[in-house]
Amino acid sequence: MPASARIPPIALPFVSEQAKRTLDLVEEFVEKECIPADSVFQAQLGEGEKRWTTTPDVLEGLKAKAKKLGLWNMFLPKNHFTQGAGFSNLEYGLMAELLGKSKVASEATNNAAPDTGNMEVFAKYGNEAQKKQWLEPLLEGKIRSAFLMTEPDVASSDATNISLEIRRDGNEYVLNGSKWWSSGAGDPRCKIYLVMGKTDPTNPDTYKQQSVILVPAGTPGVTIHRMLTVYGYDDAPHGHGHITFKNVRVPASNMVLGEGRGFEIIQGRLGPGRIHHAMRAIGAAERALEWLIARVNDERKKTFGQPLVSHGVILEWIAKSRIEVDAARFVVLNAAIKIDQGNAKSALKEIAQAKVLVPQTALTIIDRAIQAYGAAGVCQDTPLAYLWAGIRTLRIADGPDEVHLQQLGKRENKSRKDEIIAKLNWQQGEADRLLAASGFKPKSHL
Ligand SMILES: Cc1cc2nc3c(=O)[nH]c(=O)nc-3n(C[C@H](O)[C@H](O)[C@H](O)COP(=O)(O)OP(=O)(O)OC[C@H]3O[C@@H](n4cnc5c(N)ncnc54)[C@H](O)[C@@H]3O)c2cc1C
Repeated sequence: MPASARIPPIALPFVSEQAKRTLDLVEEFVEKECIPADSVFQAQLGEGEKRWTTTPDVLEGLKAKAKKLGLWNMFLPKNHFTQGAGFSNLEYGLMAELLGKSKVASEATNNAAPDTGNMEVFAKYGNEAQKKQWLEPLLEGKIRSAFLMTEPDVASSDATNISLEIRRDGNEYVLNGSKWWSSGAGDPRCKIYLVMGKTDPTNPDTYKQQSVILVPAGTPGVTIHRMLTVYGYDDAPHGHGHITFKNVRVPASNMVLGEGRGFEIIQGRLGPGRIHHAMRAIGAAERALEWLIARVNDERKKTFGQPLVSHGVILEWIAKSRIEVDAARFVVLNAAIKIDQGNAKSALKEIAQAKVLVPQTALTIIDRAIQAYGAAGVCQDTPLAYLWAGIRTLRIADGPDEVHLQQLGKRENKSRKDEIIAKLNWQQGEADRLLAASGFKPKSHL
């Protein structure tokens, strides 16, 4: 059954015929071209230092194919941008799920983070010169980019702590400080950093102290010290850089939007970006479920005389995984519909729900698949260990679960408490009145 025939009925009314056709093309491209190419990508990267200087040919070939098929820049939603492929967040959500099944598919179709979020920043907040210089080559997939916010010396999940200094000096800004987890900075094609720091550290409004400024890669004073690993994976050539800035000078015109507008930019950037990750995580969960089903039906590898699928618990794993992945998909698609009907700000609750729920769900499913493979599940012979490591980081990256839960909890509590308390008091009073009218004693209440 093609992907267009599997669209959940709840989402179907919002999906155009063109999006359905494209969805089927994406599925074919991912399953037949990208997943087999994942291994070639790793092989072409090779070993050692070469991993940071190589752009695997297989990827460039896939990019050319994807462009020809019209599978390019689907992430830019049609109601806010003219530069994208003309789909809604919901339609892209369905496609992103499929992209999430392969390592190379998102980049092959120019829908890869952090470029997607950075392109949104340029499209939304950049001036004409910034768009010309950076957005255009990013949209064409000619260069890559990084977003530098997190710092090693402060708890960065509270973005008011970010403290890299951005000081005005005549017609320039001077940057001093350090960043880490700068994803994408390892790629030789990464040409531009969007750097968040403080232009006004004493402003009494802590949300107005920060700015985002553009720093071309290779600017004097910028040093990439090392690449951080994720559970031992280097994620080359993309990588996660630890970078310092020592008296780095850039022209004043590199400021994005204006001094003190940093929070506005990160909030605008991370809205849809968070659900892109969630959508891809659904695809990772589906892929893990496929591998689980393949292993438990493997007639060669029986335990106690039976294929694994004959043991009751295994069917329960399959059933629970199906329920959980379908439920998680509803949450993501609901967030996408809500963004489409307003904007990311009007869908904060739904985005946070997806950001928290989906990685946790996907991890549970991937973990079951790993368990079904035994030791093979934790090594390089299946995609499961790498999928697990990648999805695990989503519980931290773009804000840890606890921060989103705290905000969700606060909002839910504040918006509902008065109404709920009033309603429950009324219901208890009404119950007492009815009990008394029928000759019974009123209930004792807490
Ligand atoms: C693979 C990967 C890629 C990344 N890519 C980028 C990137 O490209 N650019 C970038 O700038 N950053 C990136 N990051 C960094 C990421 O955004 C930060 O790690 C994240 O925001 C958390 O900040 P921190 O690591 O400083 O943790 P801290 O702020 O030190 O928090 C530590 C822990 O404290 C707990 N905590 C925090 N607040 C609360 C609370 N209110 N209540 C209870 N517990 C709480 C949470 O469990 C949290 O995990 C990436 C991270 C990873 C793992």
